[in-house]
Amino acid sequence: MNKHSDPNNVMSSERKSTEPIPDGSGHSNSEARQKRSAIRLLFIIAAVTILTVFILTACGNASNNSTHMHGSETFETTDSFDQRPAFLADYSNLTRTLYAEAANLGDILKQINCYCGCMDEEDKMHDSLYRCYIAEEKDGKVTWTDHSAGCGICLEEVQDIVKLHKEGKSVDQIRKAIDDKFKPDRIS
Ligand SMILES: [Zn+2]
Repeated sequence: MNKHSDPNNVMSSERKSTEPIPDGSGHSNSEARQKRSAIRLLFIIAAVTILTVFILTACGNASNNSTHMHGSETFETTDSFDQRPAFLADYSNLTRTLYAEAANLGDILKQINCYCGCMDEEDKMHDSLYRCYIAEEKDGKVTWTDHSAGCGICLEEVQDIVKLHKEGKSVDQIRKAIDDKFKPDRIS
């Protein structure tokens, strides 16, 4: 009887002593559950934030090269000569081709004057026809200007230079041909 009642007593005393504990552990279980769901929520927020930032920067890089206004000109910087400025999408196929040719024949363009009037400006920003297409080369990056895209003379000069270059003319011959055709009479 004693043996029988002893386990009962132990059981009941254990139960009694353990009864409050399940309540307590139940309470701490729901706290842990809340913590776990809060952590899961934080993970989701972090993941969504990282994904959003990633998508935004990826799109930003794809569509927007660094573009800014420079006086009346729009400057756009690309990673290389092979990467053409996005502003050319607003212009004709001929204009896009002539921008590509201007980059290809850069060494010649640097020795040719532009006669659209841009070299007469007070600020002297344009020192050659080259500057009408490409404003700056730095650390392998190329800053294009839309100046020529809106200038018939800048475009026509390059069109002629391409033709003369294909004919095998020297830079001096090309410069003379351009001067003869485009140089205003008032400039001696
Ligand atoms: Zn010009």
